[in-house]
Amino acid sequence: MKKTVAGKIGILGGTFDPVHFGHLRTAEEIGHELSLQRVFLIPAASPPHKIHDPVTPFDHRLAMVRLAVRESALLEALDLEGRRVGLSYSFDTLKELRSRFGMKAEIFFLVGSDAFIEIRTWKNYQALFEYANFVIIPRIGSDLGTLHNFILGLDKDVKKQDRKNVYTMSSGNNVIILRSTLLDISATGIRDMVRGGKPITFLVPEAVRTYIHREELYRVHENNR
Ligand code: ATP
Repeated sequence: MKKTVAGKIGILGGTFDPVHFGHLRTAEEIGHELSLQRVFLIPAASPPHKIHDPVTPFDHRLAMVRLAVRESALLEALDLEGRRVGLSYSFDTLKELRSRFGMKAEIFFLVGSDAFIEIRTWKNYQALFEYANFVIIPRIGSDLGTLHNFILGLDKDVKKQDRKNVYTMSSGNNVIILRSTLLDISATGIRDMVRGGKPITFLVPEAVRTYIHREELYRVHENNR
């Protein structure tokens, strides 16, 4: 187990069904770029936005994240959403992290632009900016102008800093748009490939690939899971 730290920490939440090199490279690269001491990958137990889609049991998704983070000293799996009952809201997770790491910890919430653009649908979304800085990673095809206007519309006192792509919210926390190497990989694509008998080598860590095959994940159609 890696030593737990407080200070500057990053978190990347997701369904991770399964975790892949797109997630891992982003977490690693942003973590280095912002000199974070640790980036926690937090699988959602019951993702509210996937309530109508069948999702692989939490224990499998967590096991795959644990295998994946072994490849990096910076990344760590955190199972706190699995220990809560009910839907997994980022608001509850941030509150829990605050009480775990204290008020002095600087938290950076890493999120792809595709997910961030939905933030108005998240529980208590305005309060999220009280708890953490946000780092938005533009996904392939996302338009920076749209993202810029979207951020300005979130908070009437938001201030764009002279530094490129840094916005300070009225809470004092920042929203930062930061590019990372874009790997055009999606968990949906990986599940489809496994189901279609295609190789997923070089899309996920080898230990994750072996786990998927050993546990016979993603063999049957999602609706029959
Ligand atoms: P699915 O295809 O099942 O919707 P996904 O591959 O998009 O899954 P999620 O677990 O939903 O993965 O994503 C978790 C977080 O990682 C989100 O913030 C998402 O924007 C980001 N993310 C997903 N894929 C990539 C990628 N290839 N590169 C960078 N970030 C990614």
